[in-house]
Amino acid sequence: MNYDVDLFVIGAGSGGTRASRIASSHGAKVLVAEEFRIGGTCVIRGCVPKKLLVYAGRFADQFRDAEAFGWSVGDVSFDWRKLVAAKEAEITRLSASIAATSRAPRSRFWRPAPPSRARTPSRSPTGARSRPATS
Ligand SMILES: Cc1cc2nc3c(=O)[nH]c(=O)nc-3n(C[C@H](O)[C@H](O)[C@H](O)COP(=O)(O)OP(=O)(O)OC[C@H]3O[C@@H](n4cnc5c(N)ncnc54)[C@H](O)[C@@H]3O)c2cc1C
Repeated sequence: MNYDVDLFVIGAGSGGTRASRIASSHGAKVLVAEEFRIGGTCVIRGCVPKKLLVYAGRFADQFRDAEAFGWSVGDVSFDWRKLVAAKEAEITRLSASIAATSRAPRSRFWRPAPPSRARTPSRSPTGARSRPATS
């Protein structure tokens, strides 16, 4: 991996991908480090999945109201797994599309090894915090 760049961006979320795209369009050599999935909070677990789940939730009311507007809807059913799979497919498509457009012309992505997570105090069933044993 060549670390000799003009701009090193930590995080391929909305801010990081935009900054890298603008900088590389001005000729800067850019390296973007992303520890999880390209797209960041908005695409992977925020704006986009939220909207898809909200849209899905609205159909229940619309099916219920439809008959009063002359529609015969018949039996309707809902498949949670199908919705989650469709949401995941859309997020994967968007993430790949952001990766493809952000790469051009002089921008690269780098996935660093996950950091070794520091041990955090765990909670007991009563909710009281227990601290890791100290020697
Ligand atoms: C549930 C939810 C719903 C939302 N809905 C909306 C909405 O409808 N409209 C709207 O405008 N905004 C919405 N937001 C806010 C929006 O998601 C954020 O404003 C936006 O994602 C911020 O972008 P960012 O680039 O600053 O950070 P992020 O998108 O969080 O990107 C940071 C990236 O950095 C990576 N990262 C962090 N540390 C490291 C490290 N040490 N090494 C490598 N990579 C690292 C993370 O994995 C992440 O991909 C929502 C947020 C949430 C949580």
